[in-house]
Amino acid sequence: MERLQDKITVITGAARGIGRATAEKFAAEGATVIIADFDEKTGLATASEIAESGANVDFVKVDVSDESSVGNLFGMIEQNYGRVDVLVNNAGILMDSTLKKLDSEKFDKVISVNLKGVFMCTQAAAALMDPEKGGVILNASSVVAHTGNFGQTNYVATKSGVIGMTKVWARELGRKNIRVNAVAPGFIKTDMTEGIPDKVMDMMLQRVPLGRMGESTEVANAYLFLASDEASYITGATINVDGGTVT
Ligand code: NAP
Repeated sequence: MERLQDKITVITGAARGIGRATAEKFAAEGATVIIADFDEKTGLATASEIAESGANVDFVKVDVSDESSVGNLFGMIEQNYGRVDVLVNNAGILMDSTLKKLDSEKFDKVISVNLKGVFMCTQAAAALMDPEKGGVILNASSVVAHTGNFGQTNYVATKSGVIGMTKVWARELGRKNIRVNAVAPGFIKTDMTEGIPDKVMDMMLQRVPLGRMGESTEVANAYLFLASDEASYITGATINVDGGTVT
């Protein structure tokens, strides 16, 4: 039997990067995958490429930081699928600035996508989870939640906040048979990390015991494990997928 057979799964920010790799793995394990992303063109292309394998894949355009957009997404899911089994809150953005230069607009923008977006999607998805079947909510944190990072006041605030919310929701939703966990990736090869200058990258890699960047599929493997019944007694946890960076 496939590990996510018949599961209705929603993955935000799955048009590319780690979200896309997770969508591919979930689809290969029998899940129905709803790709919920801001980028319509890439999202539709990703959905149709994954669907070529015979998987059941849908694309819905959403801005996770916009309450009515999140309402439309989950309203459509309720109408078309009736429930949600797994939500992966993967969508996230960076707007780096040192403390001295950070303005409140950049601060608010990153908070609204990476933190408020996770809250709004989780609230809507949890309401559509069936206590009989159980549900899973997975949140994208980051190693920088544990270590801090130069120039990332706003981003680190969100990624640490996500770990806190994960623990709160594990306590609140456990009785409803909903498990809530976070994944904290290290330096993963995606568009998000492509712009990092070579010199900075070399410095970062010196802090990675495995001595290399991670692949999106290596993070997707952690999401797959946590989404599956193999993780049936794991909730409130944060799994680092970082080559040993946080040790
Ligand atoms: P990515 O390649 O930048 O992809 C993120 C996707 O999310 C994009 O398709 C993006 O669409 C979408 N998105 C952005 N804002 C959105 C919004 N408001 N509503 C809906 N979708 C939105 O990112 P990634 O590197 O795969 O990272 C995925 C997650 O892992 C993020 O939460 C990130 O913080 C976390 N993470 C990544 C790393 C890493 O090294 N890559 C490390 C630690 C944690 P647009 O293209 O239209 O913006």
